[in-house]
Amino acid sequence: MVGAMERLANPRFWKEKPLSELTNGEWEALCDGCGRCCLRKLEDDETGEVFYTGVACLLLNIHSCRCTSYADRARYVPECLQLTPKTIPAYHWLPLTCAYRRLAEGKDLPPWHPLVSGDPESVHLEEISVRDKVVSERFVKEDDLEAYVLDETF
Ligand code: SF4
Ligand code: SF4
Repeated sequence: MVGAMERLANPRFWKEKPLSELTNGEWEALCDGCGRCCLRKLEDDETGEVFYTGVACLLLNIHSCRCTSYADRARYVPECLQLTPKTIPAYHWLPLTCAYRRLAEGKDLPPWHPLVSGDPESVHLEEISVRDKVVSERFVKEDDLEAYVLDETF
C-alpha cells in the first residue's frame, strides 16, 4: 500500500470522516509509507501466528519504501493486498503502527505520521519505516526465508 503522495483539500480529513467515506486520494494519503506491510511474512500452519521477515517484496524500493509499480502491481505481485475499510479487520497481521489499522481500531494517527508532522521523512526519522533495514526478495532464495524472521513484532 505504498504509492505516491498527493496534495489534499482537507488536511485533517481522517478526524472528520469515517474510513468508508474517504475519497480515493484521502485513502491513499493515509498510508504512512513505512513499507512494513510489504515485507514477506510466514504463517505458522498450526497456530495461524504471523511472523514478519526482513525480506521485502520484489517491487519495494528499499530506500524510498515506495512500491516501484504501484498502479500495475497486481500484474507482478497478484497476492498484493487491496486494503478497503471492510477488509482491514480481516488483516490482523497489519502492523500495529499501520494508519489503516489504527483508524479502524478507533485510534488517532501518531505524531510521526506524515499527515500529522507535515513531513514525509518523519516516518523514516522515527525509525518506523523499513528504509535500508531489509533486503529485497530478489536476492533471497524462497527456502532461506525462515532465516530472515524478525525478532521484533510489528
Ligand atoms: S503498513 Fe500500513 S501505513 Fe505502512 S506502508 Fe503498509 S499500508 Fe501503508
Ligand atoms: S506490490 Fe509489493 S511493494 Fe508494491 S504495494 Fe504490494 S507488497 Fe508493497
